[in-house]
Amino acid sequence: MTPCDNPSVGTVQEVRIAQRTGFCYGVREAIDKAKEASAAGKATHTLGQVVHNEGVIADLERLGIETVDTLDDVDHGAAVVIRAHGVRPDVMERANARGLEVIDGTCTWVIQEHRELAKLVDEGYTIVLLGTPNHAEVVGMLGFAPDAIVVDEEDEWDQKIPRKKRMALISQSTQPPWKFERLAALMVGRSHELKIVNTVCPVTIRRQEDTVEAAREVDLMVVVGGRSSANTKELTRLVEIAGVPALQIEGEADLIDPSVFDGKRIVGVTGGTSTPIEDLRDVARRVLEIAGTPDVAARAEELARAALAGAATPAGRTTSLPTPARTPDKVATPGAA
Ligand code: SF4
Repeated sequence: MTPCDNPSVGTVQEVRIAQRTGFCYGVREAIDKAKEASAAGKATHTLGQVVHNEGVIADLERLGIETVDTLDDVDHGAAVVIRAHGVRPDVMERANARGLEVIDGTCTWVIQEHRELAKLVDEGYTIVLLGTPNHAEVVGMLGFAPDAIVVDEEDEWDQKIPRKKRMALISQSTQPPWKFERLAALMVGRSHELKIVNTVCPVTIRRQEDTVEAAREVDLMVVVGGRSSANTKELTRLVEIAGVPALQIEGEADLIDPSVFDGKRIVGVTGGTSTPIEDLRDVARRVLEIAGTPDVAARAEELARAALAGAATPAGRTTSLPTPARTPDKVATPGAA
């Protein structure tokens, strides 16, 4: 009897982590800025969760970095980090007016989106914004173009998109490129002049390409990311379109049932833009431990590290600064100026 015939014996021989995974640079920079502020002894807050990942938030909390929902929760003089998604201009103004130390972690790509939107408004275009309504990035973008028409799923496009002489199309950074292109094609037929500003983030595009490439060479793909993360869900969808079974999880703790790997020899691991690359290593190790062949399961830690080393190139650092040990005498009193 081979391991494949006996479900109680693991069959996984190898785990591969997709290239260019881990935090995108926008998320990484915002987290690093928060860590640096805290290490400099500032009472540090982030306006909203700096990343949709509970493990990372817990790490930041251990450093004394607190997530707040509104600026009213931040004491005068304390530091507030604006996350990568950015905010409406009036939020920034209010933070400054309240005497907070604003640390702007808005991703440079998102800053560019804001500039493009302001320009389109000045030029008088009817703006269509492809994005998820109420997503923080979209809310921030609308601060620069309050009259923009937000559209998301394809079945609502026909009804929501008007016929206008001059229209412009722009996108939330993490929308899938195919959706943006399809919407552009529809809008061509609805306007005399159509200005297309392609703000789909290249990191998102590369992530999708690398995930699909990895998926083609494995028997099953594990996609790691927040349950509500749109870019994670899109990765799962693309893997399935490529004809490869996909398993979407939030982290290694979700891997309880080894039977999902029954008969699989090579397993791939990828993650959304808010997933630290270390989480992918931990997932790789867990897969090998619970579903690896006996030899492989015994070397799970070593093999998971090797898979991580194969994915993270020195040129593209994909994780945030190491979390420093907190020095009690360096921590400022909340509310201190
Ligand atoms: S996905 Fe792109 S635009 Fe969005 S935060 Fe990351 S790097 Fe910036």
